[in-house]
Amino acid sequence: MRANLYDLAPPVLRETLGGIVDPPFRAKQIEEWMHLHGVDTFDAMTSIPKEVRTLLSERFTIALPEVIERTTPAADGSQKYLFSLADGNRIESVYMPMGERTSICLSSQAGCAVGCTFCVTGFFGAGRNLTASEMLGQFYVIRREHQIPSEMLNVVFMGMGEPLLNLENVITTLDGLYKSVAPKRITVSTSGIIPGIDELGQLERRPNLAISINAPDRKRREEIMPITAKYPLQQLMESLRRFPTEKGRDLTIEYVLLAAYNDSPADARALAQLVGDLDAKVNAIPFNEDANLPEWMKRPGDAAIDRFVDTLVRNGVRVTVRRSKGRDIAAACGQLRGKTEPRSRASRER
Ligand code: SF4
Repeated sequence: MRANLYDLAPPVLRETLGGIVDPPFRAKQIEEWMHLHGVDTFDAMTSIPKEVRTLLSERFTIALPEVIERTTPAADGSQKYLFSLADGNRIESVYMPMGERTSICLSSQAGCAVGCTFCVTGFFGAGRNLTASEMLGQFYVIRREHQIPSEMLNVVFMGMGEPLLNLENVITTLDGLYKSVAPKRITVSTSGIIPGIDELGQLERRPNLAISINAPDRKRREEIMPITAKYPLQQLMESLRRFPTEKGRDLTIEYVLLAAYNDSPADARALAQLVGDLDAKVNAIPFNEDANLPEWMKRPGDAAIDRFVDTLVRNGVRVTVRRSKGRDIAAACGQLRGKTEPRSRASRER
C-alpha cells in the first residue's frame, strides 16, 4: 500500500522526499503544496515537473477524506461536515464562523471509548484512532471549500474522540498544522487523560489546552464522565497546575450545563473554588439535547444559565458562554453521524 505523505511529520516528510526528488528545494515546494494549499493529488502541484509528480504518485498518495454530507449553513453560518474514510468509517467536523475569526472543529477518533453520558459520540462507543492525514484532511478540505486564509483560522480538537488517546498522530497533525496556523490558535480538548496532559506539556511547541470538567465534585463527575474513576478529579486538577501555560494563553475549563444537575449557584461557587488558582477561563456550554441521550438531560433555561454565569463572575472567574453555536445543525460532536447511524448493540444496552 502506498504511504500517505500527510501521515509524515514535516521533518520526516522532508527526509523521505530528500532521497527521491532533486534538487532539495523541490521537497520544500511539495511540502508547501501540501500544508499551505492542502492539495490531494500530485497533479495539482503545478510547479513540480510532470516526471516528478508521476514518480511520487507511483510511490505515495496524498489522498484526503471525502465529504459525503454537509449541512445547510445555520443562521450563525456554522456548517457541519460528514466525511467518509477509506475503510468506510465516518467522522464529523464543524465549520464555525465567529466574527473576524473562524474555527474549524476536528475529530481525532472515529468514535470514542471514554463514554461521557452527555455525548452522542460516547453513546455510539469506541472507534479507531484517526491518522494524521485524516485529521489534517478535515482541516484542509473545509479551509479550501470556504477559501479562508489560515491566519483567520482557529483549530479545535473537540469533535469525535479523545485526542490524548491518539496523541502520537495528533502530534504529527499539529506539526503539519503549524505550517499555516500558530500554536496559540490551536486548542486540544481532553476529558482529562492525565498522562496525555503531561506529555502535551513537554512539547516544545504546545497548543492551548481545554479540559472538560462538567461537574464540581468527583461523585457527579464520575456519574457523567466515567473516566473520572481512572483519573480522579483532584489528580486531574494537579496535572493542570503543572501544565506550562504560556503568557497570555489560559487553560479553558469546559462545563456542559445540565438543567437541575450541575447548574445551580452553589455548583458555580464550587466550580469557582475548584479552578480558582489556575490561569483559566470557564467555557459554559448549555447542553445540546439529543434523542440518543438520557431523557433527564435537559438544557437549562436562559435564566438558570445567566444565574450560573453571574455567580462565577462574582467569584472572580472569567467565563464565556457558547450560546447555541450551530445548535440548529446539531453541532455537538457525533450528532450528525448519530442521525444516520444504526444503534450499536452496546449502545442499545446502555
Ligand atoms: S465528550 Fe469527548 S471524550 Fe467524552 S465521550 Fe464524547 S468524544 Fe469522547
